[in-house]
Amino acid sequence: MPELSLLIDKLEREHSLSETEYRALIEGRNETLAGDLRERAVQVRKAVYGNTVFVRGLIEISSWCKNNCYYCGIRAGNPKAERYRLTPEEILLCCREGWALGFRTFVLQGGEDPWFTDGVLEPLLRQIKAEFPGCAITLSLGERSRESYQRLYDAGADRYLLRHETADKSHYESLHPAAMSWDRRMECLRELKQIGYQVGCGFMVGSPGQTARELAKDLKFIEEFHPAMCGIGPFIPHKDTPFGDRPGGSVELSCYLLSILRLIQPNLLLPATTALGTLDPLGREKGIQSGANVVMPNLSPVSVRKKYMLYDNKICTGEESAQCRGCLSARMASIGYEIVTDRGDPKTI
Ligand code: SAH
Repeated sequence: MPELSLLIDKLEREHSLSETEYRALIEGRNETLAGDLRERAVQVRKAVYGNTVFVRGLIEISSWCKNNCYYCGIRAGNPKAERYRLTPEEILLCCREGWALGFRTFVLQGGEDPWFTDGVLEPLLRQIKAEFPGCAITLSLGERSRESYQRLYDAGADRYLLRHETADKSHYESLHPAAMSWDRRMECLRELKQIGYQVGCGFMVGSPGQTARELAKDLKFIEEFHPAMCGIGPFIPHKDTPFGDRPGGSVELSCYLLSILRLIQPNLLLPATTALGTLDPLGREKGIQSGANVVMPNLSPVSVRKKYMLYDNKICTGEESAQCRGCLSARMASIGYEIVTDRGDPKTI
């Protein structure tokens, strides 16, 4: 195995390493190496995106979910989770507020709530597109049929976020009940891409049972799948879930992986996630300073925010959307970056 700094050279040059090499880069990391990697990731990010940061307005449309992911606070089997769903009219109001604040991408995310049929979503998507010309719509509503993905795309959705959660099948099976299938999740990602969506995948850092071996597989998968976006953030336990007493992931490793991902794919859209900001008051700034280029302030009505509790102590649940947007602009400005009013499509390079 060559010296680790040579692996970073190779990664920057070839945008590819073997799984064994990714694993070595993760297992052998130290502060010097991380500093070097971070500098190069920021250089690459600046060459592609300058000092601009894209924003997405996140609207959490439902806390109802039929699934039972062991890590997630809104899993069906959590009787303490407070449930709500926004009406299409309420979702439109969030978009109106967001549009006025300069958001040009709306992300509709939620649990897998059967109430949101294609018949409910299609007119909503058409209305959003008609009222806010030039905006992009991202959906993050979990697994649906290929037919449904196609219908929603035809109704105006541009992007779809579906974290693969882990690229290792048996690891996936240890994070989810038997009713959920890793093969189907991976198939969904391929279908979404075939339909023409800009697709986002991603994984939690430090999920129970994850080692450098699983992470190396995630990196290799992302390298090969070549998504438009990739969402990664630390796992944070939620007290009312089966993983409530497991240790959480770290900001340090999450940032290190953001830097690696930037070198794997220079134009990748990489959010500095809310989970990073939850573990560390400066987590999102650290994410940007490691190579991330997207932030996703919350546009959900304040009245429901505390009910979309995927993990404990989630931040930004008390502020109005304008405050959230203002706070993030100030945070980005404090480290020399600028939030822009833009759809935020991936740059073609
Ligand atoms: N139901 C949708 C949206 C899920 S929520 C879907 O299946 O895609 C978005 C992401 O939050 C999940 O993909 C998961 O990676 C992350 N998440 C869930 N619980 C978490 C936890 N306890 N800590 C950190 N991230 C979590």
